[in-house]
Parts: sequence; C-alpha cells; structure tokens
Amino acid sequence: MNAGNLVNRPMPRSRQKPCSLCQQTAPMLYRVRCDASGEWIFACPECWVKISQDNPLYVYGGTWKVKKRG
Ligand SMILES: [Zn+2]
Repeated sequence: MNAGNLVNRPMPRSRQKPCSLCQQTAPMLYRVRCDASGEWIFACPECWVKISQDNPLYVYGGTWKVKKRG
C-alpha cells in the first residue's frame, strides 16, 4: 500500500462545482455561454438570471446537477 498517494484536492468534499461568475458552489448550475468567447461556463441560478436577461449572446447548454449516488 502506498499511503503517500492520497490525493489532496483543493475542491471541497462535495461534488459541487463552483459558479464561474461568483465562485460559489451550488448543487445545480446552468451550463451557458454568455459572451463572444464561445466558452461554456457554469452559472448558479442567481447569476444565470443576471446573464440570461437582455443578453443576445446568451446560449443555454443544459443543466448540471450533483449526481447523488445511493
Ligand atoms: Zn454565481
């Protein structure tokens, strides 16, 4: 056994992703594009409301949820 091989990740224990805009983690995020860069970001519901309104560049790409096992 290699006890020194434990991975210490900077992420919290949960499998939640951080919002790309406010960096807060949420159990559900919207996968969206909101600018001309063409990059997909994850937005929490709060930020999603802000970026989706009056934004001609906004594209909805789905919803990401924490997968609950068991
Ligand atoms: Zn946010």
